Amino acid sequence: MTKIIIIEDNPINMKLATFLLHSAGHEVLQATNAEYGLALIRTELPALVLLDIQLPGMDGIKAMRLLKADSALSHITVIALTANAMKDDKETLLKSGFDGYLPKPFHHQEFLGMVKGMLEKSYTLSAIT
Ligand code: MN
Repeated sequence: MTKIIIIEDNPINMKLATFLLHSAGHEVLQATNAEYGLALIRTELPALVLLDIQLPGMDGIKAMRLLKADSALSHITVIALTANAMKDDKETLLKSGFDGYLPKPFHHQEFLGMVKGMLEKSYTLSAIT
């Protein structure tokens, strides 16, 4: 079972993402803010983090930067969750350090396809290194 942490303050998105990941057989841990999410990541060392951009307190970009700057955590794949539909948003997020990007509202197949692809990629990389 693959451990995935979702950091998301919107209860509907949290519920749907959790449902989809459970349906794919993953273990899901939840955080509704970045501060608690980072603490959870440090203790649980998940394979994947789904990180909302707009959060109360620390935002998702700051949280991702802290995670990627920590040598114990920087290998963890981080996917941005954002409702912002601006055209260059995806490019900006990927350049800032996210491994992937999922727009909200979630489309079930796109969501699970992205998670599957990211997990396969991280397994391949960890097998090499
Ligand atoms: Mn949010």
